[in-house]
Amino acid sequence: MPLTLQDVYAARQRIAGTAMRTPTIVSALSARVGHKVALKLETLQPIGAFKIRGAANAIARLSQAERERGVVCCSTGNHGRAVAYAAKKHSARAVVCLSKLVPEVKVAAIEALGAEVVRIGKSQDEAGEEAQRLVEDQGMINIPPFDHPDVISGQGTIALELLEDHPDLGTIVVPLSGGGLIAGIAMAAKSINPAIRVVGVSMDRGAAMAESLAAGKPVEVEEVASLADSLGGGIGLDNRHTFTLCQRHVDDVILLSEEEIYAGMRSLFFDDRLVAEGASAVGHGALISDKLKLDGPAAMIISGANVDMQQFSNVMGGRPINLEGKMVGPA
Ligand SMILES: *Cc1c(COP(=O)(O)O)cnc(C)c1O
Repeated sequence: MPLTLQDVYAARQRIAGTAMRTPTIVSALSARVGHKVALKLETLQPIGAFKIRGAANAIARLSQAERERGVVCCSTGNHGRAVAYAAKKHSARAVVCLSKLVPEVKVAAIEALGAEVVRIGKSQDEAGEEAQRLVEDQGMINIPPFDHPDVISGQGTIALELLEDHPDLGTIVVPLSGGGLIAGIAMAAKSINPAIRVVGVSMDRGAAMAESLAAGKPVEVEEVASLADSLGGGIGLDNRHTFTLCQRHVDDVILLSEEEIYAGMRSLFFDDRLVAEGASAVGHGALISDKLKLDGPAAMIISGANVDMQQFSNVMGGRPINLEGKMVGPA
C-alpha cells in the first residue's frame, strides 16, 4: 500500500505529546535573496532533531507484545536518540547500534536515555548488520532510520505544519541522507500543493541518495567523515521505500563541499543566531554558495542541534577542522 497524506495526518495524531509542533522563524538571508526564507526549527525537538517524529510514530504503531520484545536500530546518532526516547516512554528495551563515525556527544545522549549502545564497525551499514543480527538472535523489533513507512509518514508531519504556517511556500529545502525526511515532506507537501518544488541537499562525498538517483538504482557509496555527520550512510541496496519516493517527488539535489558546509554553519549562527549541526546548515550553504536559486517564498529544514560543541566553537572561531585527516576551513 503506497503512503498517502492520510498516513501523515494519522502520524500527527499519534506523535502529538511526544514530538513538538515546532515554530519557524524568517531567516536574515531573506533580505539578501529577495524572498521569504522560513526556517523550520527542528532543533527545538526534545531530542534536538526531527527524528523524534518518525521514531515516535513507528513505536506507537507497535503492539504491546512487540514492544515487550524490545526495539533495536542502527543510526548516525539522532535516530538512535529518538528511538531511545520513544522506547523509554513506552518502557520498552532499546538497543542502538552505532558506527565509530558517530560523534561522542550523540553516543552520550543515547546512553543517558537508558538505551544500550553497541559501537561497531566503520560505517552505518555495518551498524545496520548488527541491528539485523539482534533481530534474528533475540527477536527484537527493528526500527529503521529512514526506509520504513511509519518513519517516513512521521517525518512528513513537518510538511503539514509548514504549509499551515506558510501557505505561500514555493520551495522546500531539505537536508538529504537516507531520504526519510525528504520523502515524507515531499509526498505530503505535494499532495497538498503539487506545484511545490522540493530540493535535497547533501555533502559531495558519500551522498548515497544523490548517487543512487543519478544511477537510477540504489548504489553503495563509501562513507567518509563530514561536518554533516548526520547525512552519512548508505540507502541500502535493498531499499524499499525512500528511493522510489525520492525518484518520484524530489525535484533537484544539490551537493556541497565541506568548505561550503563550513560556511553554511557560520551563516546559520552569525546571520540567524542558531546553534545547529552541520546537516542543518546545508540549506544556508546552498544559498550563500549560489548553488540554490529561489524564485519565491521558501522554507529550509533546520534538522538538528546535536553538534559537538568543541567542533562548533572551532568553526565559529574560523579555525580549521580535521575530518579524519582532511582539513576544512582556513589553512
Ligand atoms: C537523519 C538526519 C537527516 C537526514 O534525514 P534522512 O531521512 O536520512 O534523509 C538530516 N539532518 C539531521 C540532523 C538528521 O539527523
